Amino acid sequence: MYPAPFEYHAPASLNEALALMAQNADAKIIAGGHSLLPAMKLRLATPPALIDIGRIADLKGIKDMGEKIAIGALTTHHEVEHSVLLRNACPLLPEVATHIGDRQVRNRGTMGGSLAHADPAADYPAAMLALGATVQVQGSGGSRSIGADELFTGLFSTALAANEILTAIHVPKTDAKGSGVAYAKFPHPASRYAVAGVAVWVSIKDDTVQDIRIGVTGAADHAQRAKRAEDALKGKPMTEDNIAAAAKVASDGLTTIGDIYASADYRAHLVTAMALEALHSAHHRAHGW
Ligand SMILES: Cc1cc2nc3c(=O)[nH]c(=O)nc-3n(C[C@H](O)[C@H](O)[C@H](O)COP(=O)(O)OP(=O)(O)OC[C@H]3O[C@@H](n4cnc5c(N)ncnc54)[C@H](O)[C@@H]3O)c2cc1C
Repeated sequence: MYPAPFEYHAPASLNEALALMAQNADAKIIAGGHSLLPAMKLRLATPPALIDIGRIADLKGIKDMGEKIAIGALTTHHEVEHSVLLRNACPLLPEVATHIGDRQVRNRGTMGGSLAHADPAADYPAAMLALGATVQVQGSGGSRSIGADELFTGLFSTALAANEILTAIHVPKTDAKGSGVAYAKFPHPASRYAVAGVAVWVSIKDDTVQDIRIGVTGAADHAQRAKRAEDALKGKPMTEDNIAAAAKVASDGLTTIGDIYASADYRAHLVTAMALEALHSAHHRAHGW
């Protein structure tokens, strides 16, 4: 399948990209192209113009900002997977990146593209919710930050305005004593997208949960927090029984979706199973086991 004809622009700077977006109302940003191009080839998307942000140096790189790490929107899944800074200070993201697609997808696909696309079965959104990340966006009117809890608004929809570019992702460091992270995913056997995926960040002291965030992807029309499960564990020791009780309510409050791959009930079951696995792993890692 060939895409419909389109104009192609390759700006060298963010300002140039924003100006091009202002001039081309229905234009689409292209980053790694690994979600947009398949949609264009299937004619599910027919943008009259593409604005290729791949040459904009300001959107690249992973930087240590003290308590946080800034990840440029163009950072590929491969770069996330192999970043020494992230592996040491925010290991959830390299762990999640290894779950994405195959090597070719990880070499081209970008974190900014994945978050802006907001595929309901994408992996990073669960991690962003678990980490309490924020994304930085720039529009013609200026820049702003959007918290992960506000970013994902529905099926393939985010809080980004049509004329805004996601420039960077800020994630907190999770290397403090007593902090543990994990991601558990039930992948679709062909595409590797998540049929259900659960990301956990937990902070414990003397085995009691001080704080916890759980992000769920794949199960509903957009990634969401499993707040019932978080509440079930806050202030409690991470015993087998408490972990099992929290996992059991992990899909409560989510409107799970059913499709040809998995029914809504089966997805809810998978959320519990993935939550159980991720909570156990995060607990072990919080202890350094
Ligand atoms: C075979 C295959 C398997 C895959 N498996 C998985 C998987 O298991 N898990 C998973 O999470 N993903 C998977 N993906 C998706 C992959 O991770 C994509 O790379 C990613 O979703 C989109 O990133 P991209 O850079 O390719 O974005 P693009 O395809 O270039 O863009 C996607 C959308 O985001 C917009 N966009 C891109 N960058 C920006 C920006 N900086 N600011 C604003 N808007 C922007 C574009 O306009 C477009 O609408 C798979 C893809 C393929 C082809």
